[in-house]
Amino acid sequence: MDRYARHVTLPWFGAEGAKKLQKSSVLVIGCGGTGCACSSFLVRAGLGTILLIDRDVVSLTDLHRQTLYEEADLDRLSMKVNSAMGALSRVNHETEIEAIPAEFGPENAGALVERVDLVVDCSDNFETRMLINDACLRYSTPWVHGACTGTSGIVIPFPRGGKACYRCVVGHIPGGATPPGAAPGILGPVAGVTGALEAAEAIKMLVAPREVRPRIIYFDSLSYTYETIEVRRKENCPACVGGRYDFLSGGLSRRAFMDPESGTAHIPLSGPLDLEAIRKRLTPTYTIEDLGRALLIVTREAEVILLADGAAIVRGVGDPEQAGCLLDTLLED
Ligand SMILES: [Zn+2]
Repeated sequence: MDRYARHVTLPWFGAEGAKKLQKSSVLVIGCGGTGCACSSFLVRAGLGTILLIDRDVVSLTDLHRQTLYEEADLDRLSMKVNSAMGALSRVNHETEIEAIPAEFGPENAGALVERVDLVVDCSDNFETRMLINDACLRYSTPWVHGACTGTSGIVIPFPRGGKACYRCVVGHIPGGATPPGAAPGILGPVAGVTGALEAAEAIKMLVAPREVRPRIIYFDSLSYTYETIEVRRKENCPACVGGRYDFLSGGLSRRAFMDPESGTAHIPLSGPLDLEAIRKRLTPTYTIEDLGRALLIVTREAEVILLADGAAIVRGVGDPEQAGCLLDTLLED
């Protein structure tokens, strides 16, 4: 019996749908609560290729909603993309999975979006969503937006050539940048529902794009609300009307910060790292694990992950300054 039989039986899906999914590729941006649920359903559905991008590590407070991670992922400093890839590869060996331990930013957005048939937004901030919107407009790539907080979630499918874009809906970033480390409450299952709805829209868009209606899907678990609202194009939208991609052409401004949830310091570095050279130089002194585009270095007092795109995550230090001192020691030639 074919493993996708229960999908194939759906009249709009059929055997053709399964074949289409096997030939399709999706970029999932963010491997938090929505990213875990969404990527799990996409891989279970028999997607051909999935690219996962995230620059965070697994922490204890993630486990109530991020269903691809487990307690063992906390023993060592673990990049979410690596743990997610491990879990997903046990679900379906037929899907090609690529883990990208990096930030989705203006530097890599175009190249990544260009590689796939569809993008799913499982990020947690407005800047990233605006960037996804710009990149997907620029490369005519359909995408699905998803966000949740508290007991409510929102999902919006943006099909290729759709009537409106994310910037038509949001306009401008409310209240400026999202402060790093800010952690509002979220009911675990709500993240799962949001991610599952995103996967449903993604599958429909890849298999039967005619079934997709560009609407805002809103639900709230506490007030028993589920409603959809039509999205409308803003006639003065700078992105989809004006063709101006402000977020794609902007640079990335990153600051060092301490994430209290995972007890890690996140330090931007001045440029990309030559991980192979660093590994060779430090191997006699430290325990080093190759994470693919990232290195885990275990010193006596701390664990350090160096990301090839030029960032570091340090656990075991009190503040970003101490982390900076440790990095100076590790990175000096
Ligand atoms: Zn627009």
